[in-house]
Amino acid sequence: MSEPALYAVFGQPIKHSLSPEIHAEFARQTGQKIIYQAREVGPNQFAQAIDTFLAEGGMGLNCTVPLKELAWQRADRTTVRADLSKAVNTLIRQPDESLLGDNTDGVGLLNDLAQRGIELAGRSILIVGAGGATRGIIQPLSEAGPTSLNVVNRTVDKALQLAKDFAQIKAIEVFTFPQLPGRRFDLIINATSMSLAQQIPPLPDDCLNADGVCYDLAYNLQTGTPFVRWGVDHGAKQSLDGIGMLVEQAAEAFYLWRGIRPDTKTVLKKLTHQ
Ligand code: NDP
Repeated sequence: MSEPALYAVFGQPIKHSLSPEIHAEFARQTGQKIIYQAREVGPNQFAQAIDTFLAEGGMGLNCTVPLKELAWQRADRTTVRADLSKAVNTLIRQPDESLLGDNTDGVGLLNDLAQRGIELAGRSILIVGAGGATRGIIQPLSEAGPTSLNVVNRTVDKALQLAKDFAQIKAIEVFTFPQLPGRRFDLIINATSMSLAQQIPPLPDDCLNADGVCYDLAYNLQTGTPFVRWGVDHGAKQSLDGIGMLVEQAAEAFYLWRGIRPDTKTVLKKLTHQ
């Protein structure tokens, strides 16, 4: 019998990562023989940790905070969507031993929005935040045909740079928080890391259209996130956290590694009912 193929997620902190559980479930469901481990790896240990992992026969790797940019630099080849986001969350070992770097976060968000029946075409979207996650979701969001794509960020220069980098793909309007009053959006995506600190972005109370949707990329299965509660309190038709995106980006990575698509719905149900 052949040995199970080795996969892992690197990050810091990594103890609470749900990825091992998600991939174990995907493997069970699809009958794939894999081992998926979580390894605590900081930026300074990253190069050595990858060499060790490859020497052990590792076939694919997920990279999370704070390693996505380093993974993009380390990959021998990268996909267009990884280059647009300047971040890699999935490394795939190729038959010639090189590492292909991809970013599955954007497709993960789009697939989750689609599963939940959230329309993007003809809608105005506000993304709050201009970090790595925002860079990963702009291209797929703009391909879905929104009327406008807007970004607000604490550090406005970062958002302006982002608009410049994506200008060929979509015209992005950039705001500071004080410029938001009087403007309304159909979908507000919180792509800041503020929920992790139990904070809420300083949005005006009336910036969500009636029947609008809120989506927090962050998630917390125990307590929920403050931005999801903000959405509920401000009349959102749906106010969702990023657990579905996490499962969907993992499914895309699993597909890139194993060539088979797992059923995400059952895995999401299991995670959220635990
Ligand atoms: P980055 O560190 O690259 O960016 C963080 C962003 O948050 C920046 O725009 C930063 O603004 C903003 N921010 C942080 N603190 C504050 C504050 N106090 N006030 C205002 N703005 C603030 O993080 P990522 O882009 O990688 O991740 C963002 C979020 O998305 C995280 O919560 C992460 O967990 C989540 N995520 C979820 C995924 C999923 O699968 N569900 C996948 C990927 C990410 P500034 O530029 O001014 O510093």
